[in-house]
Amino acid sequence: MYLNTSCIRCGKDRVQDKSWKEYVGKSLVIYTTNICPDAECQKIVEAGLKERKDHLDSILANSLKRREENRRNRKYLKKLH
Ligand SMILES: [Zn+2]
Repeated sequence: MYLNTSCIRCGKDRVQDKSWKEYVGKSLVIYTTNICPDAECQKIVEAGLKERKDHLDSILANSLKRREENRRNRKYLKKLH
């Protein structure tokens, strides 16, 4: 897997932050995380990612809620007939 090694925000070459090995099934996989060399920029990038994740989480929660409501409505309609 090829990882994008330039910062999504400022375009600087990212530096390796952590590297660890983990067994996935029978094969040893090397994981690396890369961060922006500019600490302030990295913080902003991380905050942005978190915001997006929170946003996605709320969309997911809403759609689950809607599905639950639809199901309840259907049961209600059935009772009317
Ligand atoms: Zn950056």
